[in-house]
Amino acid sequence: MSRKMLDIAIEEIKEQDKYINEINKLIKDKNLKYHIVTYGCQMNVHDSEKLAGMLETMGYTETTEQSDADLILFNTCCVRENAELRVYGNVGALYPYKQRNPNLIIGICGCMMQQDEVATVITKKFPFVDLIFGTHNLHHFPKLLLQAMDAQQTVVEILDEQGRIVEDVPIKRDLGVSAWTTIMYGCNNYCTYCIVPYVRGRERSRKPSDILDEIRRLADEGYKELTLLGQNVNSYGKDLDIDYYFPNLLRDVNKIDGIERIRFMTSHPKDLTKDLIMAMAESEKVCEHLHLPIQSGSNRILKLMNRRYTREDYLELVNDIRREIPHIAITTDIIVGFPGETEEDFADTLDIVKKVRYDSAFTFMYSIRTGTPAAKMDEQIDQKIKKERLQMLMELQGQISKEINEKFMGSTVDVLVEGLSKNRDDMYTGRNRQNKLVNFMAEHDVTGKIVEVKITQSKTWTLEGIMV
Ligand code: SF4
Repeated sequence: MSRKMLDIAIEEIKEQDKYINEINKLIKDKNLKYHIVTYGCQMNVHDSEKLAGMLETMGYTETTEQSDADLILFNTCCVRENAELRVYGNVGALYPYKQRNPNLIIGICGCMMQQDEVATVITKKFPFVDLIFGTHNLHHFPKLLLQAMDAQQTVVEILDEQGRIVEDVPIKRDLGVSAWTTIMYGCNNYCTYCIVPYVRGRERSRKPSDILDEIRRLADEGYKELTLLGQNVNSYGKDLDIDYYFPNLLRDVNKIDGIERIRFMTSHPKDLTKDLIMAMAESEKVCEHLHLPIQSGSNRILKLMNRRYTREDYLELVNDIRREIPHIAITTDIIVGFPGETEEDFADTLDIVKKVRYDSAFTFMYSIRTGTPAAKMDEQIDQKIKKERLQMLMELQGQISKEINEKFMGSTVDVLVEGLSKNRDDMYTGRNRQNKLVNFMAEHDVTGKIVEVKITQSKTWTLEGIMV
């Protein structure tokens, strides 16, 4: 970053600090509460941690009940149509709260707001919404909130251009053992079904020193596991003016004392280099789990999707990875019913799932995202066919996941313990290095520790055992 840009970024932080202090004075002793609803991916969840961090610095406290809140924020996602429809329904349902408490502030942010017309539709349909802002100006939230507190109309600020990366935004992380760190923003790939590059902008990498400082602080705070986040972490560093890429970052994070496990997501197969595989294999803290979206097993559909690899490339990559890291768990994302997908194309997808034998897969029916090339493609697939294909795929993947988990029976695995299980309060829960959820019995509280668990039962999506 040039000196001038650095100065602007510092000014930006100081300005937001000023608004945070003003709000702090305004709401002092009022015991105001906030509630954030987050849709979509982990990048969004992490953005919500930043919003929560800013709100708590202003003096708000969190409530789990919308009905109890003085400020409700919806952090939206536009990747799937369903999530968007839910937002409209859920915002509409807030009207009675606003009638009951006219001082309630309702805000909507996130990538759905970056799409053309969405803010206009919301202001017309739901005039009681106080504040709308996009992903590129999340750090302006204190200023916008202060404006909304005093405004008669909806305050709207959506920047078309991605801004500088603003560091040092307060973050309220969930108390626990695992933390997320965003290492880069945006995506340059333009997969034809995906809206992300249009709403999150071009790839921008954070400076290595900023990332490493943040991770050292997290280690000092007691976090043991770290997930490095980006739309395509494998491109990290390509936009920096130094020779420093994702494998360099992984090796440096691996050296930080206190951090015991490193994960990352998401990886585009076309950018996963041999050097990265070696960095994963050599860095003992990098967990044996890789999320590697395939999206389709058909070369024809992969081309239409603009994924820029073939099924053969992908299979070779999986072989290379398994050769260096034999026990790695591989998970994926798959879309069924992409425009023009024939029975033969879908059979190729089932075939690659059988060949790779994923540990698990996030499977989706293709849904039109206005503004993307695939939305205009002919031969959109009938919903009934999409549902049938999804069902077949889920059944196949379920069977494979079950068979893979059965192999853990009788083995002992290291589990980083998150706490008591939500479904069984006589059991603790955590993940092994391959990211499998393990529920187990323990005689005393082992939350936050890495313990050895002997697996006594395997299910399709979880393992069960006893601490040894
Ligand atoms: S890599 Fe493709 S699917 Fe992933 S965020 Fe970028 S454009 Fe979307």
